[in-house]
Amino acid sequence: MINYEQIFRQSIERLKDEGRYRVFNTLERKAGSFPLAKSYITGRTVTVWCSNDYLGMGQHPKVITAMAEAIGRVGSGAGGTRNISGTHHAMVALEDTLAELHGKEAALVMTSGYVTNEAALSTLGSMIPGCIIYSDEFNHASMIHGIRNSKCEKHVFRHNDVAHLEQLLKASDPARPKLIAFESVYSMDGDISPIKTICDLADKYNAITYLDEVHAVGMYGAHGAGVAEREGIMDRFTVIQGTLGKAYGVMGGYITGTHALIDMVRSYAPGFIFTTSLPPALTAGATASIRHLMESSDERTRQQHNVRVLNDMLHKAGIPVMPTMSHILPILVGDPVLCKQASDMLMNQFDIYVQPINFPTVPRGTERLRITPTPCHTHEMMFELTRALVWVFERLGIKADVETLKKAA
Ligand SMILES: *Cc1c(COP(=O)(O)O)cnc(C)c1O
Repeated sequence: MINYEQIFRQSIERLKDEGRYRVFNTLERKAGSFPLAKSYITGRTVTVWCSNDYLGMGQHPKVITAMAEAIGRVGSGAGGTRNISGTHHAMVALEDTLAELHGKEAALVMTSGYVTNEAALSTLGSMIPGCIIYSDEFNHASMIHGIRNSKCEKHVFRHNDVAHLEQLLKASDPARPKLIAFESVYSMDGDISPIKTICDLADKYNAITYLDEVHAVGMYGAHGAGVAEREGIMDRFTVIQGTLGKAYGVMGGYITGTHALIDMVRSYAPGFIFTTSLPPALTAGATASIRHLMESSDERTRQQHNVRVLNDMLHKAGIPVMPTMSHILPILVGDPVLCKQASDMLMNQFDIYVQPINFPTVPRGTERLRITPTPCHTHEMMFELTRALVWVFERLGIKADVETLKKAA
């Protein structure tokens, strides 16, 4: 007799023994009071410090109105896959907006950023004969799965290490097609990749480029198109990929590129073809959010100001903030059990919600709390957070040395 239940339970026990069993907090956000939410664990109102709704767009009146209006007008679901009955007018408008945003000929929307990376990379890799894929070692799980499913020859270059990337490119047959896949903002360390140098290498070795701007869209550049817009080099990327679920505050993922590339993914990617389309309300909400952030830099400006203020406060208080180049402030704990305890104490004693980040999301020994200040956090909230972190780190004896642990990682 095979004891299936025992297999399930043992797999969970292994995680618990390591202190990295994931517990989801039940929270309820209240429209209009971002970044406050109600915790179903404590029953109290908590301040959320770890949301990827970086700009509070999930509660923006324009987004809410667009979604409510779409539901009232056309109802809830899309009614099928894009092929069957899911290509509605709001979807076409969203794809046009995304192509315009990134200065590309076309865009293709899917149900999430994860699905998009998986579908696009696996299709590109399998449709380009003899393709070799070069992938940054810290790439998101969705890119890794897409690359794996392409069944291409793959080379992983050390994180942001352009010399290593060049070494790998140089060692390959010059006649083989090549694709370099990487992110702009790496969301666990908050660092930004040398996107221009990577484009130069792509030109030199005749490779195409696939840039994941998931943590950058809405956030950087004059129209919120991301780091490539900020650097003025959007046109150098073959594919720019993004999500509608983080700074844009809704849900969905997309790629942008040439007509031919987009048409190929549309025509061959199972992850696009065989699943129900995003409903009109989501696409209408996403379009409203993108359009707003194309015109308004106010949210970005206030957000960047808050990041600087909080980073400064934490440094002055001796909290081990890892060096960051973006809007993400990772605070090093360096131990999975302490990291979970710190998160629990913040919640239970201070009504502050910060999710612990453990392996495999980050390497072992670099467990951390990841803080994402928004334009909606007040000075008072930042002060409270700093005070609470000092108390918790003292109580738990956390004395993470950022420099030493960065090197060890
Ligand atoms: C979150 C994330 C994704 C997936 O996007 P979703 O829309 O949440 O599925 C892709 N890439 C990176 C780097 C991410 O952090």
